[in-house]
Amino acid sequence: MRYPKLRELKEAIKALIKGPYTSKFPYEPHKPYERFRGKPEFYEKDCVGCGACFQVCPAKAIDMQDVRNKRILTVSLDMCIFCGQCQANCITGKGIMLSNEFDLATTGKRGELRQTIEKEFAICDCCGEKIAPYDQISWVAKRLGPLCFSNASLMLFYLRNLDLALKEELLPKEEFMRSDRIRVLCPRCRREAVLKS
Ligand code: SF4
Ligand code: SF4
Repeated sequence: MRYPKLRELKEAIKALIKGPYTSKFPYEPHKPYERFRGKPEFYEKDCVGCGACFQVCPAKAIDMQDVRNKRILTVSLDMCIFCGQCQANCITGKGIMLSNEFDLATTGKRGELRQTIEKEFAICDCCGEKIAPYDQISWVAKRLGPLCFSNASLMLFYLRNLDLALKEELLPKEEFMRSDRIRVLCPRCRREAVLKS
């Protein structure tokens, strides 16, 4: 005769005392475990619009479109496989996070299963070209701290965030002058400003 293993016996006694592991959902609310990977959600305040989550999403559930002066990020829950890569690779760590919410079934439109956020682009003071989302550059400048003063664009972003520098009017340039180096410039204009001034 084979005796039951001690581990199985322990589990059987625990189940007898505590009741079954299964829950009565949907008749009763179900609370998932703490590290359960449920609905991913964007957090407007912590997302800087870098697009890293869009690049790593294996199911292509995150879409990124640059329309005029805005970057639009959309997460589609009907395509999400809840892998958690977006959260793991988010540069701020909090821009998109998986919640414990799992009951996502709907009889409504697919649009109800989408969440969209928009981030405004910073544009070059000289040519009007998009550089990167404003929040992303400000985040980089803040992270660099005093080191950001070695880059004129980052320094101006940092100071504008503190209301210590004014946003300049867009001035289309034929010729760059030395003073143009202290402006928010796209890489092409910065190269020209450095070479020609
Ligand atoms: S959890 Fe995975 S599949 Fe879902 S949006 Fe994030 S990266 Fe994409
Ligand atoms: S900050 Fe995070 S959530 Fe926002 S775009 Fe970048 S990776 Fe995605």
